[in-house]
Amino acid sequence: MARKIQAIRGMNDILPDQSSVWLYLEKTVAEVVKSYGYQQIRFPIVENTDLFKRGVGETTDIVEKEMYTFEDRNGESLTLRPEGTASCVRAADQAGLLFNQVQRLWYTGPMFRYERPQKGRYRQFHQIGVESFGMATADIDAELIVLSARLWQKLGLLEHVELQLNTIGLASEREAYKAALVDYLTEFKDQLDEDSQRRLSTNPLRILDSKEEATQAILQGAPSLDEFIGEESQSHFERLQTILKANRVPYVINRRLVRGLDYYGKTVFEWVTTHLGAQATVCAGGRYDGLVEQLGGKPTPAVGFAMGIERLVLLLETLSLIPSEAKFSADVFVVSIGDDAEVASTRLAEQLRETLPSLVVLRHCGGGNFKNQMKKADRSEARFTVILGQDEVEQGVCQVKDMSTGEQQTCAFEDLPAYISGNL
Ligand code: ATP
Ligand code: MG
Repeated sequence: MARKIQAIRGMNDILPDQSSVWLYLEKTVAEVVKSYGYQQIRFPIVENTDLFKRGVGETTDIVEKEMYTFEDRNGESLTLRPEGTASCVRAADQAGLLFNQVQRLWYTGPMFRYERPQKGRYRQFHQIGVESFGMATADIDAELIVLSARLWQKLGLLEHVELQLNTIGLASEREAYKAALVDYLTEFKDQLDEDSQRRLSTNPLRILDSKEEATQAILQGAPSLDEFIGEESQSHFERLQTILKANRVPYVINRRLVRGLDYYGKTVFEWVTTHLGAQATVCAGGRYDGLVEQLGGKPTPAVGFAMGIERLVLLLETLSLIPSEAKFSADVFVVSIGDDAEVASTRLAEQLRETLPSLVVLRHCGGGNFKNQMKKADRSEARFTVILGQDEVEQGVCQVKDMSTGEQQTCAFEDLPAYISGNL
């Protein structure tokens, strides 16, 4: 036997019993974002490597060690997108959608990061991203957060997630803070974990969200970012909080929240849950007023977030929050005996699908005796089985069996849709 080829580590197949949950989640998101006026944008999963180096930042975890980068046949360096924001900016700016305009965009699709696979962390994973451009005031930050809260509410997740909020100020404020932080931490350099020691010279802000206890203990005495936040950032942050309060969206302020990507400034936020272990963040985002310009466009204020679909699916499953309508199930199973009945049954099934488009109508294909076909009907868990033989075809009727009661009755072809919808 030929050796079977397996999927790549950390890259999962979404099998039929899971894909219905994905569809439910994606459909719910599509409805919510549309109600706020967001339009979908689609862009390639491969981009020039420079887009992410410049967009996400050279000293971020993503660019330093997580990207799938390869040379194509003419030696160009390409990268499988590790996130969507940089691509979204590239695509929107390339199409001339950003300069002097307001845009509300969203996207969904696979992202690729070379990380250690574990529950809630994969090498191919999927995000839904929501981005807004051209709006500098805190009301749009609030809109995105309220939108996400509405989504949690629709999914039944609102009480299971917590909103953490911070402001990381303007670039100049962060620079001043970085200098103070480095000054302080340099004294304790030997006691820091290895990653943090390296970040001291590359990306000191990221030390703040180190998971190492020893490092966290040292950080207790470190200068605090909020002392470096200027008037403009502070009033932006307060305005955001006022609007969140008015919309009854609870939050906690987490002064250590900095986010792993370089492009953020002012508002940053994460929705976290206690139900998924270490992979606690289901949605994360913030303001990135500098990114469009950094990627060669005109200065354009922007704010957005991305959520991890796998983590949300896990959360919905863990909390048993998947509504029964979202699960796939057959409603009607059609069996037939004999050539004429086979043909007639295809017509009958079409008639049902035409009149009742939301029904799942499964027709038995491939012949076989009556007993076998009825076994398949049973296994399909369909609520009704429709049976057609030569006699029925000649009389223009069929037998309908209610699989929950076992009752069977004769029904004229033309009355079948009404009978099914009336008894479902
Ligand atoms: P983390 O701190 O968990 O590594 P991150 O800061 O790298 O997350 P973002 O780049 O902000 O994550 O991505 C937004 C969301 O995408 C995350 O909150 C998470 O839900 C999801 N996500 C990120 N990386 C992965 C991954 N490797 N596998 C599955 N989901 C992921
Ligand atoms: Mg990460």
